[in-house]
Amino acid sequence: MDMATADMVTSPPIGDYETDVLTFQQILEQGNISTRYQPIVNLKTGDIIGYEALSRGPMDSEYYSPLALIDKAHELGLVWELEMLFRQRALEHINALQSDQYMFINVDPDVIKTNEFKSGLTREYLDFIGGKETNIVFEITERTAITDYEMFQRVLENYRKQGYQIAIDDVGAGYSGLRSITEIRPNFIKIDMDLIRNIDKDFFKQALIKAFVETATTTNITIIAEGIETKEELKTLILLGVHAGQGFLLQQPQLLFTGISNVIKQKIYDYNHISFNLNQFSQAYHYISNLVNAPKETTFESMTSCETIRNYMEKECLRRVCICDHEQPVGIVMKHNLDATMSGKYGYAVFSNRPIERIMNRKPLVVDYYTPINVVAKLAMGRCDDEIFDDVVVTQSSQFFGLVSMKNIFEYTLMYEKNSAKEQNPLTGLPGNTIINRVLTDLVNSESQACVMYVDINEFKVYNDVYGFEKGDVMIKSLAEMIKSEAGQVFPQTAFVGHIGGDDFLIVCSGSDVSYEMLANRIIKRFGSERAAFFSKEHNAHHQIVSEDRYGITRTFSLTSLSISGIFGDLSSYKTSERLSEALAKLKKIVKKKGESASIFINCTPAS
Ligand code: C2E
Ligand code: MG
Ligand code: MG
Repeated sequence: MDMATADMVTSPPIGDYETDVLTFQQILEQGNISTRYQPIVNLKTGDIIGYEALSRGPMDSEYYSPLALIDKAHELGLVWELEMLFRQRALEHINALQSDQYMFINVDPDVIKTNEFKSGLTREYLDFIGGKETNIVFEITERTAITDYEMFQRVLENYRKQGYQIAIDDVGAGYSGLRSITEIRPNFIKIDMDLIRNIDKDFFKQALIKAFVETATTTNITIIAEGIETKEELKTLILLGVHAGQGFLLQQPQLLFTGISNVIKQKIYDYNHISFNLNQFSQAYHYISNLVNAPKETTFESMTSCETIRNYMEKECLRRVCICDHEQPVGIVMKHNLDATMSGKYGYAVFSNRPIERIMNRKPLVVDYYTPINVVAKLAMGRCDDEIFDDVVVTQSSQFFGLVSMKNIFEYTLMYEKNSAKEQNPLTGLPGNTIINRVLTDLVNSESQACVMYVDINEFKVYNDVYGFEKGDVMIKSLAEMIKSEAGQVFPQTAFVGHIGGDDFLIVCSGSDVSYEMLANRIIKRFGSERAAFFSKEHNAHHQIVSEDRYGITRTFSLTSLSISGIFGDLSSYKTSERLSEALAKLKKIVKKKGESASIFINCTPAS
């Protein structure tokens, strides 16, 4: 847009317009831009994946905010000039990054269309300062509409080939919905902070993020949650399995590369511990990376000769090697295939000096570090027969991490079956006391909001005596199913249900205070409406059972009902899991006295 048109469109008071044009242009001419760096943190380990470069104009000026600068640049047609200045400033410090860390650089989608961007200016600049393109991730925002996807794809492909990675920024806030993800196939997806805000209380947001995490892990994309501000948001994101996060709680944007405090690191560790104990029965938390024997073993580029690779494999007694360009896997070579191709009358002569890309499997199964092993097993078995025993390639943040053999995957599957049988209640298949104790210990060891509930059946002994153990077992199994299904509906992603034994169950969940009572009411209502099926016509008609008590005296008993007692708030005030259990047991006695289905809850957080 030239100046005359800009003037006509915006028509500001002439004096003001000229002053701020001047100021903006002065900023450009003097290069008066600085960069803040905000860490992006691996939410499983607390390590720093990289830093996002956030640009700032002069302090105390109206252009301090990057958005104000960007708006002005659009207005004046100086987007490319501003972007170059942003980038130059951001990259000035790239050499202070560790070799496995990324610098995330925001790119205005309008700039991608420009010829200057296409010609790869960043690369020349990187050569100049001695940086590496494999350390750079371009963030493309979803906030503005992308119109020409084909052009976009071409430009990005060009960048990818050079070793740069791509992130889609602000996902969930923009115009294009899921289109940019499917079209661009990014290495990272950054979820906008609007979706992260209060995620601990919003089950719809939780379900959405969970779906993102599941899709991303099987398509080798890393999910980054933006704008994490509270401990509860952090905990929920970790329970949902989100890979990485960024936000003021973890660290503010800083002038230098600054990691996270030990307190935050400890929180990440604690929440992962909770997540592991809550989910260890869920195979979703058994990651393929645990099966990699030799992380970061040697790889070869696709132009390496077949002979070099064969010699190397023979010398090192290897069955397979991974082929990577720019540290990203592009193929796999299995020794038996290589031997078969290079043997025979002409095999050696034809292939020994040819590049390995001629004979490698160009479409190996590549999965992210955090893909659940059972998901990998399914994907692996879905391959064609010729490749079914090829190793699986594991990446971490899109870079080669290691290889896993199918033998390891089969062995894990057998072990899992055996171990989970030991820790499950044999009747209901729910986690038993070993795991329940670990979950309770986690709750009292971490300062976070949660609710723990006991559910038990009133008059269950009488039911067993009158109807027999087999029918008693059926009632317990049905109650387990009811609790699981109701808890799964009220707390779709984060409920834990354990079976203490007999007719006693335990639920752990976190959400709003009212949601706890809502869950209890739903379980009671459901049990009430399904109860009739367990009793004879006569018992149902009289709403009671006549039976001998434990002293042989004939008495009248009510039909079975449920007692639910719950404690919520900051459970760390109990200090030990025993004290928490004692408090629950006392509460349970009070509810039981009511003699009919009832629930009682107490908030253990001291009023401030
Ligand atoms: P963005 O890329 O989504 O960057 C994240 C923004 O969220 C940053 O604002 C950051 O300071 C802020 N933020 C980080 N953690 C939290 C949190 O916990 N709570 C809240 N409320 N905010 C948080 P900032 O630095 O003002 O940047 C705003 C936007 O300006 C960026 O959004 C990005 O789209 C754009 N931008 C910044 N630097 C550049 C640049 O060098 N080039 C381009 N093209 N755009 C840039
Ligand atoms: Mg960004
Ligand atoms: Mg963003």
